[in-house]
Amino acid sequence: MKTIIEPFRIKTVEPIRMTTAEQRESILRDAGFNPFLIHAEDVLIDLLTDSGTGAMSSEQWAGVMRADESYAGASSFYRFEGTMRELTGFDHILPTHQGRASERILFELIGGKDKVVPNNGHFDTTRANIEHSLAEAIDLPIPEARHVSDPHPFKGNMDVEALERLIEQTGPSRVPVVFVTVTNNSAGGQPVSLENLRAVRACCDRHGLPMFLDACRFAENAWLIRQREPGQHDRPVRDIVRDMFDLADGATISAKKDGLVNIGGVLLLRDESLFTGASNLLILTEGYLTYGGLAGRDLEAMARGFREVVEDDYLAYRIRSVEYLGRALTDAGVPIVQPPGGHAVYLDATAFCPHIPADQFPGQAVVCGLYRLAGIRCVEIGSLMFGGEGKSPPPLELVRLAIPRRVYTQSHIDYVAEAIIELWQQRETLRGLDIVDQPPVLRHFTARFVEREPAG
Ligand SMILES: *Cc1c(COP(=O)(O)O)cnc(C)c1O
Repeated sequence: MKTIIEPFRIKTVEPIRMTTAEQRESILRDAGFNPFLIHAEDVLIDLLTDSGTGAMSSEQWAGVMRADESYAGASSFYRFEGTMRELTGFDHILPTHQGRASERILFELIGGKDKVVPNNGHFDTTRANIEHSLAEAIDLPIPEARHVSDPHPFKGNMDVEALERLIEQTGPSRVPVVFVTVTNNSAGGQPVSLENLRAVRACCDRHGLPMFLDACRFAENAWLIRQREPGQHDRPVRDIVRDMFDLADGATISAKKDGLVNIGGVLLLRDESLFTGASNLLILTEGYLTYGGLAGRDLEAMARGFREVVEDDYLAYRIRSVEYLGRALTDAGVPIVQPPGGHAVYLDATAFCPHIPADQFPGQAVVCGLYRLAGIRCVEIGSLMFGGEGKSPPPLELVRLAIPRRVYTQSHIDYVAEAIIELWQQRETLRGLDIVDQPPVLRHFTARFVEREPAG
């Protein structure tokens, strides 16, 4: 069979609500043209994020009921720890309430003034936590990542020569860690090859530096390695996952992605003294070592989610459904980041709205246009998310359509494709925006806008 079907059937349904064009117009205005400020029940198809929005399996829900809620030493923790150990080979495993808690703990320990942290592409919370510690976050993607239509199979790769130069310029003592984000969310959900991970590792070894993974989408990255990297096609995905983690000295993970849960995070460490420091901070602000700010039922759901995510049927369907949307848009001439990555399709907002300059947020204009037209919610990844006072403008203006895991069916995706193609055909009607109110950090979450009048 050619068709790859959803490898599950539906046991519980959640109605989604249609709105009228007039309703959406006033909802959009009330939300200050910011999709984060729209009530979820006013959204028909929600592609804002794939974070914590997935559907749990019947096995995970059964685990929720069976979970052990003991304060210390709960059996749910040991099942979670066992799963993570088997998957990653790490001994020191701390649960946290989500990825950014792992980041905050880590950078409180190793960040700080005059430090420089290189990454193939920092995610927004990672960058914010590094900068909050007064360290500097530097992105070193390969040059191909800046070219939307370049079909390079591993556009998430780090530019290892640039890394080498950076370490030589700043001196290794100012670089506490080299981070690699798999997959690279900010650059289009693009995977990192095993070859590139090995090259980054070798560079770290030359300078005696630790290498960490931001491993939120480790399973999707491993599947794309299996599909795209020479010599990897016949290998079990678990072996590829293990190869990735074996190269690292630590990892921060948001379980809200490939953990297939609605809340949760992980911090993996090898270094003994770092583990002691992290354990103390965990107890200080998250919770005791065997629950880290989560309920036993969350740990139980993670223990099962991290197993289900490396099943071949699941990953084949997952990556194929993203590809399917990418193919429908490409066939209609809509400019997207090529090739589609693991968890999302990214529209090229610069090509979508050549009439809107970066300082009027072309990505946000597309986001608002898509909600207005079809009740679909998505997110800008460009000058709004990464720009602002004193920051250099990002290389790309993108709109991310993140696909929640195991939530929408093929007909939902067909509807999304149809809506975007219709918006593309009327793209000259999209209008730029001006910010009227914004917070000092992570402004995209709460900023409010006014829309420009149509030109002419
Ligand atoms: C989601 C995400 C994070 C942060 O995780 P949260 O669970 O949202 O705190 C960090 N890095 C990447 C690449 C992510 O996608």
